Amino acid sequence: MQASHAIGVDLGGTKILAGVIDRDGSIVRRHERATPQDSQEHVLAELEAAVAELTDDSVGAVGFGVPSPIDQANGVVVRCVNVPLEDAPLRDRMHERFGVPVGLDNDANAAAHGEWRAGAGRGADDIVMLTLGTGVGGGVISGGTPFRGRNGAGAELGHVVIVHEGRPCQGACTGRGHLETYASGSAATAAAREAFGPSADAHRLVRLANEGDVQAKELLEDVARHLGSGLGSFVNIFGPQLVILGGGFGVAAYDYLCGPAEEVMRREALEPMRSAVRLAKAELGTAAGLIGAGFVGFEALDAAGS
Ligand SMILES: [Zn+2]
Repeated sequence: MQASHAIGVDLGGTKILAGVIDRDGSIVRRHERATPQDSQEHVLAELEAAVAELTDDSVGAVGFGVPSPIDQANGVVVRCVNVPLEDAPLRDRMHERFGVPVGLDNDANAAAHGEWRAGAGRGADDIVMLTLGTGVGGGVISGGTPFRGRNGAGAELGHVVIVHEGRPCQGACTGRGHLETYASGSAATAAAREAFGPSADAHRLVRLANEGDVQAKELLEDVARHLGSGLGSFVNIFGPQLVILGGGFGVAAYDYLCGPAEEVMRREALEPMRSAVRLAKAELGTAAGLIGAGFVGFEALDAAGS
């Protein structure tokens, strides 16, 4: 019998979002708990508890979206940015605990998977999705298949260089001039603070723009044009039919980002890719990662059955 449901778990820096989804990506029931900050064992125990809370006989697989590169060959979470989880054999541990196929993916890949199957990317085979939040996450669907590169850790689109010898990147990244440094919510927050004082942030910038503030609009346009530089390169590399912008900042600021970003993207992209691509706003909101993780679970289930 084909299992009708999968559990998707989206591990975030502050919350673990878990849900049971069906094959259409509808959330049947969901559950949320805080992400522990004290130890790896505590994080793993809470992930187990989140799955145990939801599982029943209809659930045939579990998928996880985690903020880390994934070693797909070994089912290992390499290193999370803001959660104490490193070199963690999550796939084997969860498979032993629950006895069903388990899939792992990077959180941005999972969000792209969710939008592809159940959101803005339904029906498309070639998609680039960027999640603009604290960082810039990237996910690619190429020829109807999630693109992950040889070791499963691709595609880290936020860490492509758009400014040679530019600003230092965030966190553990040693690079300079990366897209994430110019087009993330954190970048917008930094620009907002410089212009409007230490209490300002990216969302205040959007609110000010909504109120007609010219400087706020200019700052968002600057973010958007840097974003467009990255998008133009992605269009040239992947030839997508659709570029989806998601993430908390990407969705909140979409109306300000889409025009200038698209203008620069089309300037940089070559034909025939330039004419084939369109830009869209993510549709699944904060549930994209959870829903996508559920589909990563179904993917593991189908691979186990074939
Ligand atoms: Zn970087």
